[in-house]
This record gives sequence, structure tokens and C-alpha cells, in this order.
Amino acid sequence: MSKTIAINAGSSSLKFQLFAMPEEVVLAKGLVERIGLKDSIFTVSYGEGQKHSLTLDIANHDQAVQMLLDTLLELNIVKDYSEITGVGHRVVAGGEIFKDSALIDDKALEQIESLAEYAPLHQMAEVAGIKAFKKLLPNITSVAVFDTSFHTSMPKKAYLYSLPMEYYEKYGARRYGAHGTSHNYVSRRAAEMLGKDISELKIITCHLGNGGSITAVNGGKSVDTSMGFTPLAGITMGTRAGDFDASLIPFLMEKENIATVNEFIDIANKKSGLLGISGVSSDMRDVESAAAQGNEHAQLAYDIFIYRIQKYIGQYVAAMNGVDAIVFTAGIGENSMETRRDVIAGLSWFGCEIDSEINKLRGEEYIISTKESKVAVLNIPTNEEVEIARDVERLRG
Ligand code: ADP
Repeated sequence: MSKTIAINAGSSSLKFQLFAMPEEVVLAKGLVERIGLKDSIFTVSYGEGQKHSLTLDIANHDQAVQMLLDTLLELNIVKDYSEITGVGHRVVAGGEIFKDSALIDDKALEQIESLAEYAPLHQMAEVAGIKAFKKLLPNITSVAVFDTSFHTSMPKKAYLYSLPMEYYEKYGARRYGAHGTSHNYVSRRAAEMLGKDISELKIITCHLGNGGSITAVNGGKSVDTSMGFTPLAGITMGTRAGDFDASLIPFLMEKENIATVNEFIDIANKKSGLLGISGVSSDMRDVESAAAQGNEHAQLAYDIFIYRIQKYIGQYVAAMNGVDAIVFTAGIGENSMETRRDVIAGLSWFGCEIDSEINKLRGEEYIISTKESKVAVLNIPTNEEVEIARDVERLRG
């Protein structure tokens, strides 16, 4: 048995899951928050519901990884570092270089760093996580799993913007998408649940978390996706605007005295979406309950959220000339029965219908469409971490 860690590093956080492989049993999972700030918080859950948490100052990702490894030993989750044979890192931007997950050698690390300008918020944090593990456990298999890889199958007509061609040729200005690991995982699970070969299926996957994206998966391959050059594009998200007309940028910068374009992009990333429209929260639970209590802006935020998802589904039915299955996943997709109900209610013309009783269930995998529905609708909890651990095993050989 080997132990593999899946890592998702953010600028001030580091999430991890430790798996026994190939059994895919989760031995421990946890989170380091507020890295670089005072009173960082470290939490780990393991065994049969045991929890361990502490608050201390963690200056950087090196220290976070050191503490994580020390704690695994202290809690006897691993007896010796040598039991850990691999680490997989989620990396947001793989550009056109990484069409699959990759072993991280010096060259790959350089390439990952060179892609930082495509994802300035994320990539360097992920590089810090990679380097911290390389320093502390230099001999284990280290793998990068890219959010974009699954979407590298998109055809040119889907990934090119209609801007001058030279911008793509010179700078790689195109749609890359994100959440690829999740779209890949849930589309394959959907095929398994339906007892069909994925090569025969047209699937639309709706990953609805704090960030959200919709993907058209034809024959197991991503053929279009709603996120763009960065995760800012597409549907309405917790704090991101999704699609909007770029001409609004200079217009609003002037009206609101916003000094730099970066400041505006920051507003579009962090103060928009559900939060920006509702004025209540970026969290769907809060938006739903405020709407239920009659808050009109919260209701509007919810309605826009649903409408955008429906429009993307409509687009992707056209893009694939059909659809066999629609999948909901991630925090909102898995848990909000209202979201699933209301999205599908607008698709009855396609012959989509869900069973309102099964739709109330959550926490497991469900086919929520009725027997009569022409399109299967599924609720599938995503599992990006297990995908990362599987890729580490696959590339370890
Ligand atoms: P992230 O993109 O950060 O991984 P998640 O996939 O955890 O996010 O999704 C977070 C979102 O899921 C939040 O908007 C949260 O409100 C929503 N969510 C979680 N549980 C529920 C629920 N029971 N009903 C509605 N929304 C929920």
C-alpha cells in the first residue's frame, strides 16, 4: 500500500487529502488557512471522525507543509515519511503545454512558473506548494494535475475569441477553461451510472461551487466550456461576474474613478456575482434564505444565476446537436435542490424532467430525472482529490 497526498494550494491556504492507494481510502484530510497572516489555522480530520486543530503563526507554504507532515507523524496517521510515495498538486493553468497531468521535474516546474501570467492569483501559490514538498520530500513522485488539461480537446472554433488572430498566435490569448478535473470525473461517473460507454454520450456538466463552469462533453471530450482565458468568464458565480461586455470597463472606471484596470478586474472577480447583485452574500445558502424572506436583490441574484446556467445548457445542446445527460456537481449543484429544480424547469422543451422526490436527496450519486425524461439528469458529488491521487499512481507507473 502506498500513501499519496492530493494538494490544493491557494495564496493563503493549503487543502490536503491523504489517500491509501490503490484502495482510494481517505486516511486524513484537512486545511491550513491564513498562511502568512497572524493566527493561521490548521485543521485535520482522520480515523473515525477524529479531529485535530491548532492555531499558530505559519509564515509560508514551506512551514505549512512541514507542519502538515509533522502532524501526520504525531497523530500516527503515517509512521514514517517513507510511507508517502507520491504527491499530486492541483495547478490552475496548464496552457497549451500540458494536455495531461505531468510528472514535475525541473523542466515542468519551469513551464508551470512560465504560465503564471495566465493565472496570477493561483499559479505562484501552487508553485510554492510544489517547491515545499520537493524540499521536504525530495524523493517522492510529484505530479501536477491541471484544471485546464481536460479542455485541451476543445476545437479552435470553441477556444478562439474573435479578436485579431495575432493575439492568440503571439500570446496564447484564448479560452482555456477550468475545473477540468471535476468535469472529467463527473462525466465519466455519469456514463458508468447510466451503463453506457462515454464515447456514445453527449453530456453537459454543471460544476456549481463558489466558482462555477458548464462544459459540453461529447464522447468523453470537452468540446466547449464557459470559463475563458481566466475563471472570470461564464456563468454568475459567488463573487465573479461571469460574462460581461468589456466596453463597460473604461466606462465604469471613469464614472467610479477606478484608477487601474486591475482594480476593476478585482471588483469583477471579488465583489460581483451573487454577492454583487444580492448585496447579501456570495454564499448560495444565504442568498436562498434571503430570497425566501422576500429580499428582492437576493431573488434577482438567484434568478440571474439560474438563467445563465440555462442559457449555457441551451448553447451546448446546440454545440453538440443534442444532449443525453445533464450533470450537477460541486457545493451548489450537489446540495441546492432548488437550483437543480429551477434550471431543469426551464428545459422542458428539450424533454427534461426531474423526479421531485429524488431531487430532494443529497450526499450520494443520484439519477434525478424521471423515467419519461428524454435527457438523464444526475447529481454526482465531485471528487477532484481522488482524481489527483489516481493520476499520481498512473504516472508513478
Ligand atoms: P468551492 O468552489 O470553494 O470549492 P464549493 O464547491 O464548496 O465551493 O461550493 C460552495 C457553494 O455551495 C456555496 O455557495 C454554498 O452556499 C453552496 N452550498 C453548500 N451547501 C448548500 C446547500 N445546502 N444549499 C445551497 N447551497 C449550498
